Order: sequence, then C-alpha cells, then structure tokens
Amino acid sequence: MKVRGAIFEAEGKPLVIDEVEIDGPKRGEVLVKLEATGLCHTDLFTMSGADPSAYWPAILGHEGGGIVEEVGPGVTSVKKGDHVIPLFISECGECPQCRSEDTNLCSALDETYYKGLMPDGTTRLHYEDGREILHFMGTSTFAEYTVVPEIALAKIRADAPLDRMCLLGCGVTTGIGAALWTAKVRPGSTCAIFGVGPIGINVVQGCRLAGAEKIIAVDLHEDRLEKAKVFGATHTINAASYDGNAVGAVKELCDSSWAGADYTFEATGRVQVMRQAVEACRYGGGRCTLIGVAGKGDELSLVPRMLISGRIVTGTAFGGCNGRTQLPQLVDWYMEGKILVDELVTGERTLEQINEAFDLMRKDQGYRYVVKYS
Ligand SMILES: [Zn+2]
Ligand SMILES: [Zn+2]
Repeated sequence: MKVRGAIFEAEGKPLVIDEVEIDGPKRGEVLVKLEATGLCHTDLFTMSGADPSAYWPAILGHEGGGIVEEVGPGVTSVKKGDHVIPLFISECGECPQCRSEDTNLCSALDETYYKGLMPDGTTRLHYEDGREILHFMGTSTFAEYTVVPEIALAKIRADAPLDRMCLLGCGVTTGIGAALWTAKVRPGSTCAIFGVGPIGINVVQGCRLAGAEKIIAVDLHEDRLEKAKVFGATHTINAASYDGNAVGAVKELCDSSWAGADYTFEATGRVQVMRQAVEACRYGGGRCTLIGVAGKGDELSLVPRMLISGRIVTGTAFGGCNGRTQLPQLVDWYMEGKILVDELVTGERTLEQINEAFDLMRKDQGYRYVVKYS
C-alpha cells in the first residue's frame, strides 16, 4: 500500500516527503497505523552526518504511537485495534539478555536491526519503482504506517492519548529509566543532572519519582532551569555563571564529607560535561550515568585516580527499560498524574512540516515536537 513518509536520502539534507510503498506484515510482524511520532535528537544526529553508523535511504523516527492494523502469521500478543508503542530495543523474553535481570539489551534482532532490515533480512519499505528503503532503529515512525516485529511492540491501555504516549518510545522513558532502572536512585539521596533539555528533564522527574531529597539541575539556559523546577528540581545551577563548569557549585550543595552527589547524570552529549558529571559524583560508590550520545571521534578522558575511590561510571540504553513489560507502567503513571508528558510538547506539526521542526531543534529550541498523522 502507498503511504506518506519522510525519507532520509542523504546526510546533511532535509528529509524528502513522498509516497512510499509498505508491504503487509510477514511472520511474527505487525502493521501499525501511526497516530503520531515525536522527533528526537537521535534522528537529527543521524541526519547530520556525525553518526558513523548512519545508512540510507531510510525512514527515520523512533518515538511513535499507533494502532495495530494487521498482524502477520504467528503473532499472538497483539491484535487489530490494540494501541501500541514501537520499541527500538525489542524484548523477546528468551535470549540471555532478556533472561538477565541486569540488562534490557535484547539480542533477538541483532543480526538484521543494524542493517535496517526486518528479521528475515528483507525490508517492507520501497520506492514506487521497487528500490528498497531501509528501516531505522527497527521502528521507522516517520511514515503513516510501519511494520514492526511483534517482540518490539509495547501494548498500552487504549484510554491513553497516543499523541503524547509516543514520547515514551524514547525520550521520556530514557530519562526516567536512567534514574529508576539504570542508576536505581535511592530515596533521600542527592542527585545532580547535567543538562536538563528533552532527556535530562525526564531524569529530573525520575529522581523525583525515586524519592530523591535533593535534585540539582545544571544547565546553561535559565528557561530550562525554570522548567526543571516544574519537573521536580529542588535546586538549579546556571553553569554559565561558572564558566561552564558547575562541579564546585554542585559539591557545595552536597554533604561535604562525601564531596559530591550520590548520583549524577549527563544528558548533553558533550564529553567535557561527561567528565564534570563524573567529578561531581561522590567518592565511595557515587554513581554517574552518561546518557548523551557523543559525536564521531569524541573520547572521554578520565584520570584513573577519579575511579579509585569507588565512583561507578556507566551508560544507559533506553533507561534500562524492558519495553514490553515496563513501558505500560509508565503509561499508568501518566494517567494517574505521577509523571509529566504534556508539558514536554513544544509544538505539533504535520508530516510536511517535519523539516521545519528539525530546524528548530538544531537551534536547541523547545523540548519535543510531535508530528500528527491525522
Ligand atoms: Zn530518541
Ligand atoms: Zn531478548
């Protein structure tokens, strides 16, 4: 069938809005009619030319929300009409990673996922002349429909708004999960979040949910710091007042005997800030979680002495979330008013306006733009 989509055809160029052919679902796959998609900085990063693993032509997008239109043979966990969020990390429930309690990195799709293909090694997306278009992050939500393996779909309750729940497909869950599931923030602790943009602000609300006592937001923009207070920040530091290095200011707010925060988070993608987040976390088991994606060739320099005292430095993928089992819980929390999502939407756009929204994101304006398909 023919659907409208935004095709990534060359680095550094706008997406091409055009009709693409999408095939029906094969065994174990599901055709989803998307209601909306969020635009994430990872899409922008892939388009920019800075992503060494980028491939094209492809339909980008990985923050979708939609309704099951058709299921392929063998699909049992969802049916036509179910509301779903496509997941860029699958959850097969059977691989060693899915059976481990330590990781959410399901390996079931590893062989084809990074090549932009479905599990059988082919693509469901084509140009009208038959040339292949690749899938992106296994989700390809910048089109009216997408085909996703069943094991990469989270089924959610039908009374939750899909044009907001789509943001759980990446940014919201990555931020909240980094606090809850990767760092496992303890009640009464002190947390510092370096960078409270679209991801960091969700770390702030994750720390709030976890019961942190002090939540210190660090950013260069005063408006972002103000917004972080709405999401739960108890203290804010404008790093611009400290020549871009707020480590000392964070430590001043912490219990001096530990010389740092119990948990620090970095959500800027800048390696200098990553190092600051390591330095600002306390001796003796302080935990620093790096979330931002650094650019091509960037390296993080740490003095080994910084780790001798027992600091733990780690990264996170999708906030450590096991999507099919844990994402529905986040939807419940939204419906119960425990987490903020509506407040993240800076603007809504049509598919035709997608490049304009990316231009605003390049200027660091706003938190999330949502493209609505109907
Ligand atoms: Zn993303
Ligand atoms: Zn798995």
